[in-house]
Amino acid sequence: MRVLIVEDEAKLARLIRTGLEERGFAVDVAGTGEDALWMAGSTPYEAIVLDVMLPGIDGFETCRRLREDEVWTPIVMLTARDAIADRVGGLDGGADDYLTKPFAFPELEARLRALARRGGEPRPAVLRADGLALDPASRTVERDGEPIQLSPTEFAMLEAFMRRPGIVLSRLHLLELVWDNAYENRSNVVDVYVRYLRAKIDEPFGTDSIETIRGAGYRLRAGA
Ligand code: CA
Repeated sequence: MRVLIVEDEAKLARLIRTGLEERGFAVDVAGTGEDALWMAGSTPYEAIVLDVMLPGIDGFETCRRLREDEVWTPIVMLTARDAIADRVGGLDGGADDYLTKPFAFPELEARLRALARRGGEPRPAVLRADGLALDPASRTVERDGEPIQLSPTEFAMLEAFMRRPGIVLSRLHLLELVWDNAYENRSNVVDVYVRYLRAKIDEPFGTDSIETIRGAGYRLRAGA
């Protein structure tokens, strides 16, 4: 399998390249995030190893721009030991996994293989459908750039819809996705929250993103 290593420290980059090549990988190296962007955009790598600390745009920004360019190649971020903020930032920015430096080679190899199995399906960090954008990391929602304030339950319900655009969700399915098992009052809570949600995401904008499907449930309109 062919992988891209993004690391500015030449010695470490060489070490990783040699190690992976000995294990049968085909390896290209980029020294900067900018180089990584065009290389990953033009070559179908099966995985990318991306260092956080890079000159110019750093690993987080590189990752974010790759996803923005709809490059969905699985990414392992290399982070400093114990830097929780690095790991959180990387995963929220669209990375799939992380490894702290220094790492053991067999672990990098195993993670690359696991990621390659998963493949490069689109999995955007920010969810978009029918003019709406929802960012699970910053917990923000916008329609056409205008911020919308939602309660935690409204947010959870919209996220459930936005992960399944165009799919009809039954009331029972929505209950399972948004409320925990301890929730007792199940009679019409889904309908109530759909109403709350429509009052915030649709009515002020003259849109109807959430459709009622008679006898089946609700559906969020697909499309940009
Ligand atoms: Ca570095």
